[in-house]
Amino acid sequence: MSIAGPGQGDDRTVATIRFEDLDLADVVERVLAGAELERAEAHAILNCPDQRLAELLAATLRVREAAFGRRVKVCILRNAQSGICPEDCSYCSQSRISRAEIPVYKMQSVEELCEGARMAVASGARRYCMVCSMRGPGAREIEHLAAACERIRSEYPTLELCLSLGLMSEEQARRLKQAGAGWINHNLNTSRRFYPEICTTHTWDDRVRTIENVRAAGLSVCSGGIIGMGESDDDVIDLAYATRRVGAESVPVNFLHPIAGTPLEHAARLTPERCLKAACLFRLLNPRSEVRAAGGRELNLGTRQADIFNAVNSIFVNGYLTTAGWGIGATRELIEGAGFEVEVEPSAAT
Ligand code: SF4
Repeated sequence: MSIAGPGQGDDRTVATIRFEDLDLADVVERVLAGAELERAEAHAILNCPDQRLAELLAATLRVREAAFGRRVKVCILRNAQSGICPEDCSYCSQSRISRAEIPVYKMQSVEELCEGARMAVASGARRYCMVCSMRGPGAREIEHLAAACERIRSEYPTLELCLSLGLMSEEQARRLKQAGAGWINHNLNTSRRFYPEICTTHTWDDRVRTIENVRAAGLSVCSGGIIGMGESDDDVIDLAYATRRVGAESVPVNFLHPIAGTPLEHAARLTPERCLKAACLFRLLNPRSEVRAAGGRELNLGTRQADIFNAVNSIFVNGYLTTAGWGIGATRELIEGAGFEVEVEPSAAT
């Protein structure tokens, strides 16, 4: 897999373009034709003046609608193992350096994981993602999760199954695919350059290797990142290009929710406008991928949550591992109030 190019920060010195000088109709046409944004255009989009944001959202909506119409896919996370991770990711409440007060427990039973799937389906979710706080799984964990996947798959043949288990070999990914998993989540989180600022126990390249293993095993890749950890515009842009380069079919965009007890608890707050511009950038660089609004959307978007659907076609409900979030009722109202619709299984559509 080659991720060389603009996404790797090797051409950060570029001519600048002001947002006002972008021809947005032309940008949309080129993106829909498969062309990659110029890096200067990516800068202009991320630095769109707030008073011009409506134009950027309208242009991004055209790209979003071309692949996904007005549909919004609902996803639910399951914290399958919580709070005992040996890694030191500075944004994470479950890391070994976190002092956050969170539930701590070992891997949930197969039955508990199946019950989580039933609750996800009852909440209208089309994708269920089991997440374990760990550096990476061992053989026992893989077999346990494979058993859960097989049970869930037999109960819900069309529920999309995703797992997030840290660093993983191709062989492990193959076993999960055989058991019925369709996606592995492994976020790149930020740029390669900024990665050592947020984690020292593994590298950005380690993460890319896991993505390569997942791809080689024939699974789909879910990989995005977190905005608001103190990174620069170039880091956000590098990350957005990297998600395109790895061909992520699913791109979760998280907006940092600073958690007391973590090194980033006092990180500067994002504005809703910054979050929306970043989401537009990820969409314009990943026109046919599922782009998701993930952790921190309620906190950081505030009253502008509905605007995010111009860029994303998917959203999480019922919270994010150790932070609370909106349930399906409020989220459905948000989706429908903005003129979008909750995606249902094709067989359930009338
Ligand atoms: S590897 Fe995952 S669970 Fe562990 S500290 Fe990093 S983000 Fe948290």
